[in-house]
Amino acid sequence: MYLHGTSKVNDNGRLEIGGCDVQDLAAQHGTPLYIVDEALVRQRCREYVDAFRASGLQFQVAYASKAFCVMAMCRIADEEGMSLDVVSDGELYTALQAGFPAHRIHFHGNNKTPEEIEMAIDANIGCFVVDNFIELHMLNAIAAEKGAVVKVLLRITPGVEAHTHEYISTGQQDSKFGFDLANGSAYKAIKEASSLPNIDLLGVHSHIGSQIFEVEGFTMAVEKVSAFAVDVRRELDVTFRVINLGGGFGIRYTEGDTPLQVSEYVKAITDGIKTFFSQAGYPTPEIWVEPGRSIVGEAGTTLYTVGTSKEIPGVRKYIAVDGGMTDNPRFALYESKYEAMLANRATEKATETVTVAGKCCESGDKLIIDLELPPAKTGDLLAVSCTGAYNYAMASNYNRIRRPAVVFVKDGQSDVVVKRESFGDIVGNDIIPARLEKEAVAK
Ligand SMILES: *Cc1c(COP(=O)(O)O)cnc(C)c1O
Repeated sequence: MYLHGTSKVNDNGRLEIGGCDVQDLAAQHGTPLYIVDEALVRQRCREYVDAFRASGLQFQVAYASKAFCVMAMCRIADEEGMSLDVVSDGELYTALQAGFPAHRIHFHGNNKTPEEIEMAIDANIGCFVVDNFIELHMLNAIAAEKGAVVKVLLRITPGVEAHTHEYISTGQQDSKFGFDLANGSAYKAIKEASSLPNIDLLGVHSHIGSQIFEVEGFTMAVEKVSAFAVDVRRELDVTFRVINLGGGFGIRYTEGDTPLQVSEYVKAITDGIKTFFSQAGYPTPEIWVEPGRSIVGEAGTTLYTVGTSKEIPGVRKYIAVDGGMTDNPRFALYESKYEAMLANRATEKATETVTVAGKCCESGDKLIIDLELPPAKTGDLLAVSCTGAYNYAMASNYNRIRRPAVVFVKDGQSDVVVKRESFGDIVGNDIIPARLEKEAVAK
């Protein structure tokens, strides 16, 4: 396992994160346990903010909260000067409950409900990223009823295909998201939005995909969106004050992943924008980006206890942990790759190749295929790295498994930011209708 941030192997031969020995964390909080290296999260936020400051442009860096949306994380994003993207009433509620400043919240999504729009207008959020014509007109109508004028970016599909897993590519033409640039729908949307009295059109948004390792996709998107900005200004007399280039900056899950430095992605974007707009003689808009994975992904580690194992001679050896697809569905969804280590015997040599399985009733419930490990015994601790993004956020109660706790670790201290779910939580929303009560059945 690649050790990054504050992760290291300590003098006792065990994994330590944020100054906390993971064996102590397991004893104190139980397993499975999501461990978040707070210093690394803050470092990533700062890398974005510093890189934009260095560019001299006006900017906002919005943390895409869907990657990991809990109140403590919203607090950190706020403290680090980030804005925040939400895509549902639940994420908006979380951010507001955490006291996140509403004017720095941006609301995304391709199917916002009228109730979500009302909630967001009532909270006075900073911006709606409008996805389609139905939403545009609904938003204008609801804003009119409330006597509000709402700030809007229009999400456009620039037709840039990022080199990434096809399930998570969104910049190509065949996408459920946004107004298409090539077929004129984006142009039509600008025209309509700028004529609606309760819409204040700030500009456009584009998001070309996720887990991107090159700058080319971003520079192509910059060129397309900027050229569009110039056309729109000439033909419609609409000037974009904001261009949002989305998220998707890649991280290192395994050896095969080769992300760039945050500063390299940001520089490619800001240089592209500066060059284009100075040549076009057009006022340089404010630039927004929306990293999610790259803020929290590498800072997360999931700690499991090894339970049973099964050896199929000549085929493979499975070891099973006390979690699985319920806390990390990404292998089942995308065959995502992860690295891991035996965290309580971190200095021992790897002599076995095992497949790590979860405890769910699903053959696809696996976490890692062919992991090199020292011989793992029942009770050992397995740490899977880079689980900070889209793990807790995508966790489920399949098999009525309780979602794990989340702890933030920093300077030798661990703080629970999400409690482990209780059995009470598991049945908390269940209702037995009176006619099915035990007494009713007995009669
Ligand atoms: C998912 C998403 C992001 C964040 O993507 P990451 O790959 O986590 O950086 C940003 N913007 C939009 C519109 C998204 O859908």
